[in-house]
Amino acid sequence: MIGRITSRGAGPRRTTTLVIGAGHAGLAMSWSLARRSIDHVILERGEVANSWKTERWDSLRLLTPNWQSRLPGYGYQGTEPDGFRTMPETIEFIERYADVIAAPLRTHTKVTSVRRSGDGYEIVTDQGDWRSDTVVLATGACNIPQVPPLAEAVPSTIATLTPMQYRNPSQLADGGVLVVGASATGIQIADEVHRSGRPVTLAVGEHVRLPRVYRGKDIQWWMDRAGVLDERYDEIDDIVRARNVPSLQLAGSPERRTIDLNALTAVGVKLVGRLAGISDGKGQFSGSLRNQCALADLKMNRLLDTIDEWASANGFDSKVGAPHRFAPTEVEASPPLGIDLKRGGITTIIWATGFRPDYSWLDVPVLDRKGRVRHDGGVVDAPGMYLMGMPFLRRRKSSLIDGAGDDARELTAHLASYLGDRSAASRPAREAPARA
Ligand SMILES: Cc1cc2nc3c(=O)[nH]c(=O)nc-3n(C[C@H](O)[C@H](O)[C@H](O)COP(=O)(O)OP(=O)(O)OC[C@H]3O[C@@H](n4cnc5c(N)ncnc54)[C@H](O)[C@@H]3O)c2cc1C
Repeated sequence: MIGRITSRGAGPRRTTTLVIGAGHAGLAMSWSLARRSIDHVILERGEVANSWKTERWDSLRLLTPNWQSRLPGYGYQGTEPDGFRTMPETIEFIERYADVIAAPLRTHTKVTSVRRSGDGYEIVTDQGDWRSDTVVLATGACNIPQVPPLAEAVPSTIATLTPMQYRNPSQLADGGVLVVGASATGIQIADEVHRSGRPVTLAVGEHVRLPRVYRGKDIQWWMDRAGVLDERYDEIDDIVRARNVPSLQLAGSPERRTIDLNALTAVGVKLVGRLAGISDGKGQFSGSLRNQCALADLKMNRLLDTIDEWASANGFDSKVGAPHRFAPTEVEASPPLGIDLKRGGITTIIWATGFRPDYSWLDVPVLDRKGRVRHDGGVVDAPGMYLMGMPFLRRRKSSLIDGAGDDARELTAHLASYLGDRSAASRPAREAPARA
């Protein structure tokens, strides 16, 4: 065991590695640290799987199939590998993982400050202080809904909600709903709200269109097998761009439905361009809807080309359906460029415009201009500090449950070698003979 958890009287408790956050990413890191006998503690402000318990809407299912939630030392054991977990099933899965790996947890412990102190870190929590040699930030990528500044101009008669406040359509007033954003969250909420009988207008910006099933196989199966999800951060051209790509336009459902823009239009959802401004109670939409959709179609077809090439090269052509392409996204000839929010029948706006992490408690100068942690594949720009669970941290799959295992293994190797170097560097000083 490297290091020991200690408490000296009323002073701070000590550990070698402090992991902040008990989502799957923090737990996967704990598994890797334990394998290397590095003593550590996980601090969690709520309970294990807190984000899934408190921040998601009722009907949400994972958009990744059951088989694809592979955590180190733990995977799907049930009879429906191709199904999609509900929220209670997801929570149970992560809770069981914490039990199986006997994670050293301190729940209901909120970290309020992390600062550099000597050659380690001082961590302040609402349950006392800690000192550690190394710190792992596993507090999640989606702590705060990203609401655009133009939200301030929404007329006060219209209710506004973020996806973290949204639970189900019954909490919405009758009347029309404007969903802003057409990635995974926006399309799922637009579909559900529209089916509740409230007419939905969907403001569509940049998005990543994908079919649920292609050539008889789940799209995640293809991306996994063809190595798309394993692409590494240091192998692709523009990692900054890749880390900011919107989430996949995908949903998990027992029927394996594709919920793309064509499917939404077919049930009556009205598509408009990106919400570009609000002035005098009028919403203004960008004229780029057609281009955004054409671009998403193009990129989807490029991915399908890659899949087809991989299938041919690897002898799958005879085992799966024939290659085909999906109908282009249908956009009406002149989509409206404006909507009178007061008189247009809209009673609610839902901001499905993304999420961002919260580092308001991090007192180490590692944030860039946009408030993102500066890091190289999860190795933070501060000695002995590591990051987990961010989009494309080390691989395209890094923000998925399935991506945590590989990242945790590699970052733990780095952390172990950091500890080794540090103790080697301090040895001569300690072992130096006393002066005569
Ligand atoms: C709507 C939605 C759907 C998703 N669907 C899928 C999917 O289908 N499949 C998939 O693989 N991934 C999915 N993801 C992505 C990802 O798996 C989740 O975001 C996941 O919750 C991230 O895991 P994590 O461990 O990195 O962070 P989290 O699960 O958010 O865990 C972070 C933990 O840190 C704790 N914490 C934060 N701040 C502090 C603090 N100051 N002190 C102490 N504790 C703190 C939080 O309470 C939380 O428990 C989805 C994400 C969202 C938002």
